[in-house]
Order: sequence, then structure tokens, then C-alpha cells
Amino acid sequence: MKTRVRFAPSPTGPLHMGGVRTALYNYLFAKQNGGDFILRIEDTDSHRFVPGAEQYIIEALRWCGIFPDEGVDADGHIVETPSERHPHAPYRQSQRKPIYRQYAEQLVASGNAYYAFDSAESLEAERARAEAAGQTFIYNYESRDRLCNSLTLSAEETQRRIAGTTDWTIRFKMPRGRVVEMDDLIRGHISVNADTLDDKVLWKRADELPTYHLANIVDDHLMEITEVIRGEEWLPSLPLHYLLYEAFGWQDSQPRFAHLPLLLKPVGNGKLSKRDGDKLGFPVFPLRWVNADGETSHGYREDGYFPEAFVNLLAMLGWNPGTEQEIFSLPELVEAFSIDKVGKSGAKFNPEKAKWYNKEYLRRKPAAELAELFLPVLAGHGITEVDTAYVEKVISLTQERATFVADFWDIAKCLFVAPGEFVQKDVDKFWKPEIVAAAREALENSDTDTLEGYIRDHEMPMGKVMNAIRLALTGASSGLAIADIMHCIGRDEAVRRFRYLCEKQS
Ligand code: GLU
Repeated sequence: MKTRVRFAPSPTGPLHMGGVRTALYNYLFAKQNGGDFILRIEDTDSHRFVPGAEQYIIEALRWCGIFPDEGVDADGHIVETPSERHPHAPYRQSQRKPIYRQYAEQLVASGNAYYAFDSAESLEAERARAEAAGQTFIYNYESRDRLCNSLTLSAEETQRRIAGTTDWTIRFKMPRGRVVEMDDLIRGHISVNADTLDDKVLWKRADELPTYHLANIVDDHLMEITEVIRGEEWLPSLPLHYLLYEAFGWQDSQPRFAHLPLLLKPVGNGKLSKRDGDKLGFPVFPLRWVNADGETSHGYREDGYFPEAFVNLLAMLGWNPGTEQEIFSLPELVEAFSIDKVGKSGAKFNPEKAKWYNKEYLRRKPAAELAELFLPVLAGHGITEVDTAYVEKVISLTQERATFVADFWDIAKCLFVAPGEFVQKDVDKFWKPEIVAAAREALENSDTDTLEGYIRDHEMPMGKVMNAIRLALTGASSGLAIADIMHCIGRDEAVRRFRYLCEKQS
């Protein structure tokens, strides 16, 4: 049987990095097994729909190099009409609306579900009553026999209400006294007593839409999904999902399940949240997101991360290869990934490690590729007329020090513009007119571009000489090696800078 997995996000906002990790693990699993990776949009909860979220999800996956085999066409649009390549279209659940009712009705007919007519007010009153008695109201085997549903009403009254009213639902009838036995590829065997679970709503007459549970099971079945790989927050739904497969008689083709561990905060305990990112200054979203109130959240892409580094660091959050290797390209991940090596416990996110990954990728990149990325940064600083070969030379000299492409500017600004401002405390400490004047003279009278001979032969301590010279060349006393600066800017420019500082300070 061909492996078919799906990523099934709800477009309720930007995809969190945990969501991208779920997509990535699905993708790796599919590709490793020569299977298909499907993108399905679960948008049946219209109250939580956020405009732009679907496009965001698609763009984020494309940025990571995760391209679905089904569900999205080459232009990055969700496919709406079935074709040979996309046989199960549409892949957006809101467009599959007419499919679901018959499945819910099928469960009513087989005695696994029932019509419920309770009004929102009456359920609210039940909840309040239970709360006053220190209990929690649950719609289940204990309460269903006294509530307003097709199990308690006559067949005629039920029919009358189905035909004449629109605020009813179809609820799953949890079997009494059943222990649901389940298997998870990461967590092993799990058993849950169904008496602890409630009769979940499967379909709502009001908007004629299924809830997540029904739509998810029906679509996984119709789309021939073989493995469901999703976040741990869905583990509590697993018993219901098992029972739904059973109620439909689909046990033989039921997918296998794998629930991924949570991503945890860098400090303390608990789930990684958007607020942690804002508080500790790192992105939790793949791409920048601006919400309806105009509030902006950082994105890895806009913060200067390489997609390969982001994918690599995500892969390592919860999975380990069982070796010391930390750097993996996407094809290498496809090769090495295994669900058996995904841990059960939450994976602590370390923002410093994320930066380390970017630095490692930056170190490995050819200078020409980095130059291409750095040119717009230079343009942002008003430097447009610049020789690409020169930019590459600067990058090769500074590559080991940078974490992000934008760092090249901070590190090597002085190789593009002469300092206008000088760090005052460095001036106070290191400004020595006689050294700078002598260095200028030595350069002017020499036929080389280097100051090495001058620094070596000068009678003052080497540190003092170098600090004064670096101050004149860069505006501060620390930074690049003098030899590197000279190698880039050359003799004439150095002489100009020495002269400038001498004049400025006189
Ligand atoms: N729509 C669910 C979500 O947003 C999908 C859960 C699943 O993969 O079954 O996460």
C-alpha cells in the first residue's frame, strides 16, 4: 500500500513553528517511504477562520522547501477540482460540505449517533447546575437519557424537529463500559475507558457543517491516509477517532497514529507560546505575521534565517538521529528520519541553538551566494555602486564571524564607508596623533598596502599602535584585523582616513 500522509492545518492564524515541524515530519515520512504528502485545509470552524492564514501556511511550507504532492498546485493554490494528480479535490473542507451529512446520518442509522435538540440555553443551565453542585456537566451516558434528543423523544417528535428546526446537532453515542485499546507509533499502547469521554458533536444543522472530528475521520478515510502524524494536543481525541473508524466499519483501513511531543519554552516548563517569543526576543513563526490589529510578529525568514537552517533545527526538536551528526540537508533528513527516534517527552526550544544552526549554514555557503543576499542590505545603507567581486572578498574575510547576512554590515561597515563618527571612549583612550601621523607617512612613502612593517618597527607598544590605527580606520578600537582592512580598502583610502581623523582631532 502506498504511504499517504497529510498535514491538515486549520487556518486560524499563522502557522506556529510547531505546526511547521508537524508538516516537516509528515513530509519526511512520506518521502522516505516513496509516498505522498497531502495538504488539506480544515476550515469547518467558521468562527475561528482568519483571512490570509491559508496563504500564509502555503507560503511558509514553500519557503521551507516542503512541497505537497496533492492539495496544492504548482502555483501554490489549493486545488479545487479533481484531476489525475489531485484525485481527492477539493482539499478545503468548507468546499466538501455536502459530503459529510450522509456519514453522520449513517452513524445515526447504525445506532452510533443520535440527534440532539438541546438549546444552547438549556445546556448552559445544565452546566450552571452541575457547577453549583461542584461537578462538571458532561453530555454522556449519564445525562443523555434525560436530555432533549432522539433517544428520549418519540420518533414522530424527532422527525418533526429535524424537518422544522435548524439548531440541532448529531452527537456520537459513546459506548458504555468500553475500554478503547489504541496504538501510537511514538507512545506505544494506550487504553482509555470510554465512560470518561463525552458524546461529541459530529455535525451541526445550523451551518450544515461537520465538526473537526467527523470531517477529519471521513477525509482521512476518503483520501486513503495511511499514517496520521500530528501534535500531542490531539491525543485526547484518539479514542473517539478509533471508535469512529469502528462505527463506520473502516477498521481495516484505519491509519496508524503518531502523536508528536510538544515544543517547550526555553526556560521553565510548558508549551512554547507566541508570548515567549516576544518576551525573549526570538521568532515562533516561520514568516512575519501582521494581525488584524496591525500587530507584527517576527518571522524566521524576515529575521534572516536560512530556510535550510530553520528546517534543520526544527527536525532536531523531538527527533534525534542516534548519532552525533547535527547538520542535515532536507534530502539527508529524508534518508535519516525515523518515527522510532522521535521522543515521547517535550522538546525544549533553545533560541541560541537556533542561531548556531544559522551560523553553521552561513559558514558553509559560497561567498557568491551570500554576496547576492548582502547586496540589498548594502543598498538599504545607500551603497549601490559596488563591485560584486569586492563584496565577495569582504564576505570571505568576515564569514566566520557572522550569524546572519545582516551581520556583515555591522562587522564590515568600515570596508564600505569611511567612519564619520568615532566611539568617544575609544578616542579618549586610544587617540595618539603621533602614531596615526607616522602611520600615514609610512604608508605614503611605502610601495605596499600593508602597515605590518610600520607596526612591528614602531617603538611604542604594539597594542597601543594597533588600537590607534584601528580607531582611525574604523571609528572604534575593536573589530577586524588591520591587515584585513588594509587588504580591502587599500593604501589611498587608509591615508585619507588617517588624515581625516588627524584633522578632526586637531
Ligand atoms: N485541523 C487540525 C489542526 O489544526 C488537524 C489535527 C489532525 O492532524 O488530525 O491541527
